[in-house]
Amino acid sequence: MTASRLIMRASASSIGRTFTKAAALTPATYRSLSSSSSILTRARPSSFDNNKFQRSFRRAYADVAPAPAKKARRFRFFRFLWRLTYLSTIGGTAYLAYGVWELRHPEEQFEPDPSKKNLVILGTGWGAVSLLKKLDTENYNVIVISPRNYFLFTPLLPSCTTGTVEHRSIMEPIRSITRHKQAAVKFYEAEATKIDPERKVVTIDDNSDIKGATNKTEVSYDMLVVSVGAENATFGIPGVKEHSCFLKEIGDAQQIRKRIMDCVETATFKDQTPEEVERLLHMVVVGGGPTGVEFAGELQDFFDQDIKKWVPEISDKFKVTLIEALPNVLPMFSKQLIDYTESTFKEEKITIMTKTAVKKVTDKTVEAEATGPDGKKTMEIMPYGLLVWATGNAVRPVVRDLMSQIPAQKDSRRGLAVNEYLVVQGRSFPCSAFQYHG
Ligand SMILES: Cc1cc2nc3c(=O)[nH]c(=O)nc-3n(C[C@H](O)[C@H](O)[C@H](O)COP(=O)(O)OP(=O)(O)OC[C@H]3O[C@@H](n4cnc5c(N)ncnc54)[C@H](O)[C@@H]3O)c2cc1C
Repeated sequence: MTASRLIMRASASSIGRTFTKAAALTPATYRSLSSSSSILTRARPSSFDNNKFQRSFRRAYADVAPAPAKKARRFRFFRFLWRLTYLSTIGGTAYLAYGVWELRHPEEQFEPDPSKKNLVILGTGWGAVSLLKKLDTENYNVIVISPRNYFLFTPLLPSCTTGTVEHRSIMEPIRSITRHKQAAVKFYEAEATKIDPERKVVTIDDNSDIKGATNKTEVSYDMLVVSVGAENATFGIPGVKEHSCFLKEIGDAQQIRKRIMDCVETATFKDQTPEEVERLLHMVVVGGGPTGVEFAGELQDFFDQDIKKWVPEISDKFKVTLIEALPNVLPMFSKQLIDYTESTFKEEKITIMTKTAVKKVTDKTVEAEATGPDGKKTMEIMPYGLLVWATGNAVRPVVRDLMSQIPAQKDSRRGLAVNEYLVVQGRSFPCSAFQYHG
């Protein structure tokens, strides 16, 4: 123990003794002693219990010592609220930081076990990814095959066409999903071109831009999940594939966005003819289902909220037309919603043409047959700048081919028919299909 500590200890005990022995104490003495106790507090020796000392001091001189000041009660609630807020903020930040850390440092994965069954999943869309996220990959050797190495959040795709949503924010890399599974999952960026249910093999084709020495191979499976979605239905109408934009993939949304701006810029080109300006600023959407309706609304909003301000000289020339072959848009929804959509579109000056069937598309015109209220059919030729085709889905060739190999599927039209356990009809356990008809 150092000399200074010894001195402090001695002085502390002597002060304590003096207080205990003293019979009476004036307030002035009390104040001077209090200040010596605060000196002690500051230069507190390690073994000196200041609290204990203060307590015994107050007990002995309760008559002269002023009562400790009562803490203000008024702001107790706000103090509690403030503490709760900052503790929750600290807790929330720590939780978030841990989440990010965990995401970036996934645990080591188990290697595939050859003694386990091969589970092959075709596709990386809604069906495939929802299964993959729930699947205990330790029970199988899981192989995912898809030409798209990311999951796409399709409900926000129409917003990508106008730049309201950035396309990267609706894509999730499939590798990041598979990397967080307990057992390793294999991914092949390829298209399944043929399924052989007898030999239990899938033929896969690497159709990406960069190709290696092997582009085509076979993958064998014990269990197969077919979740390849659907392709755009064009009903064999001439010119649709060549001249329209679709709205299914991220590339489609980017193409539409580029085309909208190209139409606007070309319409404002020097010495442009009024007819050409009208054509370029006429945006036609074919298909009055959810995708077509959502996109038409998004387009008009984009024009009203942004383009009109950027390019005021075309503000009265931009026009959106929605074409639907059936008597009303959104045929799968309630009458109330249909009426609401039609009245909102009227307010927004979006033209809805129902009972109108597109017959032909060229690079600059849409030819459609319109049925009047009297049942009379007339042919309309509409010049357009942008044509978006959103008329629904068709079965993918690989699924059509599989259906043709299974006699029980001969009456299926919209996709593989499955039972209540999603097992393909006509096959027993190993082949399942996830089919969402969006
Ligand atoms: C613009 C838009 C907006 C939508 N909004 C909504 C909405 O708000 N609410 C809603 O419920 N639904 C919505 N849908 C519908 C929804 O996206 C579909 O129902 C859903 O995507 C279908 O899921 P899926 O797994 O069957 O197919 P998809 O999600 O289309 O996935 C198919 C996967 O299979 C892959 N694939 C394709 N061919 C092959 C092949 N030969 N071999 C291997 N893999 C292949 C594809 O690359 C893709 O990864 C929307 C659709 C679109 C286009």
